Amino acid sequence: MGLSIDDDKCLLCGLEAESREHFFFDCSFAKSQWGTILTLCGVFRMVSSWDGELAWATHCLKRKSLIVKVLKLAWACHVYCIWKEINNMLFGGSTRSVDVVLLDIKEAVRVRLMGKFINTTDPRNVALCASWGIPQTTT
Ligand SMILES: [Zn+2]
Repeated sequence: MGLSIDDDKCLLCGLEAESREHFFFDCSFAKSQWGTILTLCGVFRMVSSWDGELAWATHCLKRKSLIVKVLKLAWACHVYCIWKEINNMLFGGSTRSVDVVLLDIKEAVRVRLMGKFINTTDPRNVALCASWGIPQTTT
């Protein structure tokens, strides 16, 4: 009983050894997914390592603005979806494309922010809502 592990290669790309550093930000799958999330948030920079992204998030995601809320939710969704895709590969033998996983992430972020007050006088919030499909509630 138990899992038979033939090698320690990443199940998503098959190129590098499994590690936290590789899975969440170094793997081509994860790098593409997180890079798209950053782009959807209007953040244009290269995806770094686990330590680099964690340092960036710790430093930058402190306020309560909409972009910070979206990035915090998206961070959690990103990590969860990577873990879920690895488990799908491990137990089901199939994986989804980054584009399909991103639909799940966008839906999770959208649902969490639905009905929340969003300051639509800030054009950055309007653009963010458009990118993520977040309904804008004004009152
Ligand atoms: Zn990989």
